[in-house]
Parts: sequence; C-alpha cells; structure tokens
Amino acid sequence: MLGLAQGCFDYTIPYMKERMQFGKRIFGFQGLQHQVAHVATQLEAARLLTYDTARLLEAGKPFIKEASMAKYYASEVASLTTSKCIEWMGGVGYTKDYPVEKYFRDAKIGTIYEGTSNIQLNTIAKHIGAEYCCPRERGLSPWLLVENSKLSCLVGEVNLHSIEAFCLSP
Ligand SMILES: Cc1cc2nc3c(=O)[nH]c(=O)nc-3n(C[C@H](O)[C@H](O)[C@H](O)COP(=O)(O)OP(=O)(O)OC[C@H]3O[C@@H](n4cnc5c(N)ncnc54)[C@H](O)[C@@H]3O)c2cc1C
Repeated sequence: MLGLAQGCFDYTIPYMKERMQFGKRIFGFQGLQHQVAHVATQLEAARLLTYDTARLLEAGKPFIKEASMAKYYASEVASLTTSKCIEWMGGVGYTKDYPVEKYFRDAKIGTIYEGTSNIQLNTIAKHIGAEYCCPRERGLSPWLLVENSKLSCLVGEVNLHSIEAFCLSP
C-alpha cells in the first residue's frame, strides 16, 4: 500500500507542476500545496511505521501491534493519497486515460484484505489493553499514579475533585 500510494503521488506531482490554470502552474496554488504537504507527511509517517515494524521483526522483538498499526495506517493513507491525487488532477484524474484512477481502485483493497482496518484496530486496542493495568484490580491506590501534580489517565476512574484536592493539599 505504501508503494502504491508513493507511486500515485510520484505520478501526480509532476502533472501538477506542468498543468496551467488561471495563468499559473496548479502546483503553485498554496491551497493545493498545503494538501500536498499534508499527504506527503502522512506518507512519510506510514513509511516510518512500516520500516519500524521491519526493524522490530529483524531484531527478534515483538512486532504485532506495530505491524497492525503499519498495515492500518498505510492502507488508510493509500486511500487518502490516491483520492487526493484524482482531485489534484481534476477531470482527467477520473478517466482511464491516466493511471491515477487505477491506483485509487487498487488502494481500497488495502483496507479489506489481510485483516480489515477494523480488525487491525481491534488488534492494536487488544495490545494496548494488555500493556496497561487497572490499578484497582491490582489492589493499587490510584493516588500512587498522580505524580508532580499532573493528573494521570485515571481521571475517568476517580473523582476529579478529589484528585484536585489531593494535588493541591500540602
Ligand atoms: C481482492 C481480494 C483478495 C483477497 N485475497 C485473499 C487471500 O489471498 N487469502 C485469503 O484468505 N483471503 C483473501 N481475501 C479475503 C479477505 O481477507 C476478506 O475479504 C477480509 O478478511 C474480510 O472478510 P469478509 O469479506 O468476510 O468481511 P466480513 O468479515 O463480513 O466484514 C465486513 C465488515 O465488518 C467488519 N467486521 C467484521 N468483524 C468485525 C469485528 N469483530 N469488529 C469490527 N468490525 C468487524 C469488517 O472490518 C468489515 O468492515 C481477499 C479479498 C479480496 C477482496
């Protein structure tokens, strides 16, 4: 999915630098530049997630959560990237005269096969659930986790006013 998204992006940007509208290259419009920058940033994030998962695998470390994050994110980014590329190319992007619409159709499968995006989210959440404990179940006082007067993630489990009173008390 990452390669698909990058290929679609790489095809589209040169077109944007060539296509003239309103006497200007369309890549020169700041409204489009911001969209391109937004997509490029997400593409890079997907790449880093993917490479980090490979690094963990090669190092013999646990990688299931990271693999799910990479697969989920790269698939979603591929859908976004290819959709934006069609928009950036305008009407011709929608036609079969250019390859971008094919990238768009192919990207959709990434959110379905080899574990749908929903199932990847299930896997990620399961791992997060296993990484953190419920202090009450372990017989710990939630107060132990309130450090430096900063509220921990326990705010949802305990009375907020009690925590504030605790933090403010000398
Ligand atoms: C082009 C293509 C190629 C494929 N290639 C292969 C292959 O080579 N080998 C192979 O084994 N399979 C392959 N598949 C099958 C693919 O893995 C399944 O389509 C995919 O796992 C989804 O299963 P499903 O179609 O039964 O959808 P369903 O399980 O019916 O899911 C439908 C929707 O419900 C959601 N959903 C289901 N259960 C949950 C849940 N517990 N929590 C939240 N949401 C849920 C799903 O995320 C999805 O959005 C391929 C599919 C396609 C389209």
